[in-house]
Amino acid sequence: MGHTHAYRCTFCGYEEEFNRGHGFLIHSQPASEYLKQKTRYFHYKTHRLIKELSKKYNHLFIKAGFEVYICPRCKILSDKVEVKILKDTELLHRSEFRCNSCKARLRRTNIHRLQMAVCPKCHKKTFQLNQSAQLLWA
Ligand SMILES: [Zn+2]
Ligand SMILES: [Zn+2]
Repeated sequence: MGHTHAYRCTFCGYEEEFNRGHGFLIHSQPASEYLKQKTRYFHYKTHRLIKELSKKYNHLFIKAGFEVYICPRCKILSDKVEVKILKDTELLHRSEFRCNSCKARLRRTNIHRLQMAVCPKCHKKTFQLNQSAQLLWA
């Protein structure tokens, strides 16, 4: 199950929604199940890595879900599908993302603690979590 977090800029009124969690298409599963599917949900490099690692190790497990990220420089938010490849409890791989504008490595953010971010439209620090507009999705 996932959550949609709505943010609104109190200066220019721009709104954007960010997803966190697991949904129908993006969820956790054994690598063998993932590789049986015809559709590739992940980035082609991630897909290739899953294929390569599953030749080396048995019983790989893939955890995938939406996470909300923030650029440490621009303070702009984005949601991405984070993929983790696990062998038992050992983490073999975790997705990393870079900011579209400054190329800094994005940081996963705790959206419940983050009250203020930078508006992607007007670039003022007035982008706020709209608590009343949170939705659940399955
Ligand atoms: Zn704005
Ligand atoms: Zn940036």
